[in-house]
Amino acid sequence: MAVPKRKTSPSRRGMRRAHDALSVEAFQECPNCGELRRPHNLCTACGHYNGREVVSVEG
Ligand SMILES: [Zn+2]
Repeated sequence: MAVPKRKTSPSRRGMRRAHDALSVEAFQECPNCGELRRPHNLCTACGHYNGREVVSVEG
């Protein structure tokens, strides 16, 4: 089994982890109700997509 020759220094470890940060998820405002929704996804608040109601929302 391949084994590292040297212990990873805190500096090297930090350099490796510099690319590990998670990016913020994309959100857009629904044109029908103004609620935030994911792009290319049905609005969970009013059930609209592409200018028409696709799923009826009770309540
Ligand atoms: Zn909506």
